[in-house]
Amino acid sequence: MAGNNSPVRIGVLAFQGDVREHLAVLDSLGVDGVKVRRPDELASIDGLIIPGGESSVMDKLTRLFGMAQPLKAVISNGLPVFGTCAGLIMLSNTVLDAMDDQQSLGGLDVVVRRNAFGTQIDSFEVDLAMPVVSSSPIPATFIRAPVVESTGEGVTVLARVPDGRIVAVQQGNVLGISFHPEVNGDSRIHAYFVDLVRQHRLSKKDKI
Ligand code: GLN
Repeated sequence: MAGNNSPVRIGVLAFQGDVREHLAVLDSLGVDGVKVRRPDELASIDGLIIPGGESSVMDKLTRLFGMAQPLKAVISNGLPVFGTCAGLIMLSNTVLDAMDDQQSLGGLDVVVRRNAFGTQIDSFEVDLAMPVVSSSPIPATFIRAPVVESTGEGVTVLARVPDGRIVAVQQGNVLGISFHPEVNGDSRIHAYFVDLVRQHRLSKKDKI
């Protein structure tokens, strides 16, 4: 964890996917964003983003670089983590339509289905109501996106697409969304996550 008076530092898991885009949004919010690839780098961050990309590849690299266990440990220890698209898949306890041997880190008690919108509708954009983040709709870009098919106790649904399917959830400090807020210039969901990270850091300070 960074010092209490230092700016909030948020890592972006940097094996694969939309790493630069997330770092740019963090920068625009005045947050110190850093790439994270090694277990020792987890000690100096206040929160972590797992980006969109390809979850099966990200899973392989995460295990290859010895990051799977350290990541599971920090997640269960309460580090705020935000997964977008493939990142949501990485954070889901159960993954449907996974590749052979694909594993997830878990942290969200949900069942997620990969590529749930089908090949016909590879990508699309829709305005989502996400009241916990903002009173006005959020433009959301979906790219070969997963959907949350069911949620366990303790999971809050934050947003659904118009047909009712779940595309954003939160369980404690773990936030997962099906879409890509880093690509369309709207930083409200990142700002929501940064608030979560700040609150977590303050609550740790109280305990010292
Ligand atoms: N379909 C991808 C997967 O399964 C996710 C796509 C994305 O992150 N844009 O990992």
